[in-house]
Amino acid sequence: MPELPEVEVTRLSFADRIAGARIEQVRLGKPLRWPLGCLPAQLEGRTVSAVRRRGKYLLVDLDQGVLLLHLGMSGSLSFAPAQPEPGLHDHFDLVTTRGVLRLNDPRRFGAVVYAPGESSPEAVKLLGRLGVEPLADGFDVDAFHAGLRRRKAPIKQVLLAGDVVVGVGNIYASEALFLAGIRPTVSASRISRPRAAKLHAAVREVLARAVSKGGSTLRDFSNARGESGYFQLEAMVYDRAGQPCRACSTLVKAIRQGQRSTYYCPHCQKP
Ligand SMILES: [Zn+2]
Repeated sequence: MPELPEVEVTRLSFADRIAGARIEQVRLGKPLRWPLGCLPAQLEGRTVSAVRRRGKYLLVDLDQGVLLLHLGMSGSLSFAPAQPEPGLHDHFDLVTTRGVLRLNDPRRFGAVVYAPGESSPEAVKLLGRLGVEPLADGFDVDAFHAGLRRRKAPIKQVLLAGDVVVGVGNIYASEALFLAGIRPTVSASRISRPRAAKLHAAVREVLARAVSKGGSTLRDFSNARGESGYFQLEAMVYDRAGQPCRACSTLVKAIRQGQRSTYYCPHCQKP
């Protein structure tokens, strides 16, 4: 599943090139998770002004309105001057004067939704409950700690929920908790201010490292496809059950939390 760093790297791969492009045509394939919300023809003639990211949504700003793109479980975007005929899993093409932005999504949990503006109900429904952006200046330690104190659930699940901080998925939550030395099962409400500060820094570090790693991976791809995704981080604990911890050699443990796998070092990560 694409996580925040993959979505950010996807954005970086085409944002500059598509800015200023005029939409010539919109081609739809099979239905995605949500309908487009307007007639494809209504988008023709509009101009792309910028591409931003909010959580795992990409916001394609138009001179009138905004397109919200989500990659779902298996989606990937590509932007190229020309694309081959749409294949079986190509369900959205934005044909512009600068190239074709294509969503390939075999499982079709992704979506492209038009909203007249970011504060219109269509957009608020999708973006309204998202927490603060972990890589933005607005993500500060005090607010983060205050958000954690209100939640009794295990810290790992609070990170994944996305309402305290947005876009920290399963891999990066496990890695950040390792860096911060915090056991994933600790109740969020019991995390002290100093530990919250460590976790705050760790979340930023793992995400920023993945974005920069993805950016360098991406430069090797001539057509800059977002699907280069899953940047093989040097994971400290994620997916390493039964292997020695890279810091202390204790065997990494795996547990289930809310139907997701969690990995941690019983020695380095304190309850
Ligand atoms: Zn360890």
